[in-house]
Amino acid sequence: MTTVRAVLALGSNVGASNDTLSLAVGDLVDTPRVRLSGVSPVVSTKAVGGPEQPDYLNMVIEVETDLGPYELLEHCQAVENKHHRVRTVRWGPRTLDIDIITYGSWTSDDEKLTVPHPRAAGRAFVLQPWAWMDGTATLGGIPVGELAAGADDFKGLAPFEEV
Ligand code: ATP
Ligand code: CA
Ligand code: CA
Repeated sequence: MTTVRAVLALGSNVGASNDTLSLAVGDLVDTPRVRLSGVSPVVSTKAVGGPEQPDYLNMVIEVETDLGPYELLEHCQAVENKHHRVRTVRWGPRTLDIDIITYGSWTSDDEKLTVPHPRAAGRAFVLQPWAWMDGTATLGGIPVGELAAGADDFKGLAPFEEV
């Protein structure tokens, strides 16, 4: 069986987001077919695109999986649904969003599953936690920390502190 290392980005801005993120990580790895190999710190970020909405909490994890890419997508969507993800407006507020950022060296330009995630290279809320989790990570051959520093939303990025 082939094992692939995948990077997932999680975000939430509705409900108890910090709890939702940690529960979602537990749900994602609640199968022997997905094993946790890295966890980033949680960051608080301003919403990018979409309507006016609350700030997000975002984090990145790395998993080792023997699920195929589409099986992994289904698995991520099942966890979103478990946390009452409702799809209304594009880029609208949500209890939980889980995106597949990379899936080994596999690439796809299918609309249903585009990998690497087509907007990740411009999103500090994905790149910076990823760089903190894995200082050696690259995307398209460029260190993710470098990409983060050049992203438009880099300045608004702050570590999440529980109040
Ligand atoms: P964005 O993709 O800009 O982060 P979003 O996360 O708000 O926006 P969603 O409404 O969660 O978008 O997802 C829309 C569709 O995107 C999903 O139904 C899924 O089929 C598709 N999709 C394509 N590539 C990916 C990917 N790499 N990870 C997750 N979903 C993807
Ligand atoms: Ca997303
Ligand atoms: Ca998504």
